[in-house]
Amino acid sequence: MFDVILLATANQGKYGEFKDILTGRLTRELLFAPRVAPLEVEESGATYASNAVLKAKAWAAASGLPALSDDSGLEVGALGWRPGLFSARAALGTDFDRNAQLLSQMEGHTNRRAFFVADVALATPDWTLVCEGVCGGRITGNTSGKGGFGYDPLFVPDGFDLSFAELPTEVKNKISHRAKAVQNLLEILDSWKIL
Ligand code: IMP
Repeated sequence: MFDVILLATANQGKYGEFKDILTGRLTRELLFAPRVAPLEVEESGATYASNAVLKAKAWAAASGLPALSDDSGLEVGALGWRPGLFSARAALGTDFDRNAQLLSQMEGHTNRRAFFVADVALATPDWTLVCEGVCGGRITGNTSGKGGFGYDPLFVPDGFDLSFAELPTEVKNKISHRAKAVQNLLEILDSWKIL
């Protein structure tokens, strides 16, 4: 039905993860969107799903290719499930600044429960499909590890004692919110016989 999919993200961390997660599971060539169609999409939706669909549709329209995007965030119980949708914009500056801000907001909180959430959307000229994945864990007291991106150095997934930034990439890409959302999407595409 289509031979190529545009990975509709300008975030190198997400692009690498999508490639790892999809390798061997999708017989389509994966293109890195910024090399094909430079585009800024305003994330004006009220949900991860609506933002993922906005991005996928905009990249698909700009490139003429089916486009796969995600919208994701970190939900922290002690902070009223923030930063959530605003994870990328929670503090000005870099991932380092956002991690420092989260650590200071968590000072004195014994409830460290948190969830990473990702909604993944695939937009084609005929239809758009969106699926969600969630990964539970806890926020550590200090950053640890050099891998991954974003809040990875502060997040220890359920069942592990190491942060996402310390765990091998292949482990994160099996259990992460993004991996689960992609898995749900692939199962639906498979049931439609278009994988
Ligand atoms: P957006 O989906 O581009 O709006 O950005 C989501 C933001 O959530 C990222 O910039 C990170 O701060 C955070 N985030 C989402 N997924 C992950 C992840 O797998 N690891 C670390 N941080 C993440």
